[in-house]
Amino acid sequence: MNTKHDIRRCLPDQACSVCGRRSSLISAALGLCRDCIRASSDKAIGIASARHGEARKAFDLPLVIASTLLVPGYVDAREVGLIAGFIASLNPNIPYALLAFAPQFYMQDLPRTSVGHAEAAEEAARAAGLTNVRIGNRHLLSRDY
Ligand SMILES: [Zn+2]
Repeated sequence: MNTKHDIRRCLPDQACSVCGRRSSLISAALGLCRDCIRASSDKAIGIASARHGEARKAFDLPLVIASTLLVPGYVDAREVGLIAGFIASLNPNIPYALLAFAPQFYMQDLPRTSVGHAEAAEEAARAAGLTNVRIGNRHLLSRDY
């Protein structure tokens, strides 16, 4: 029995809204072929931007979300304050997530982000003017430092 499966056999052909080419690899939601996306024509970018906006509206998502990985010894509260200040200068309501670092494949010599580090960064981000700040993946936070 051949278990190899070609997903293209299951998908209906869609037409690219720019060049008109038909392929099963063109999503119905975006309606652009790979070549037109890569060419980045004004028409393709306009279509992609409109679809992006529609999807964000449908799922009630903000235009942009920012996040910073709190790597111990690399990213401290002072730097988070500077990053947050820049984001706040664009729009103070942009959601900003501070993410705990945990050593995995690389940087195994570093500890996990501590609770104190994350809370200091959160305070710095709020002090810089952001209104929608949260600490993500709290379950990774340590009390190592
Ligand atoms: Zn095309």
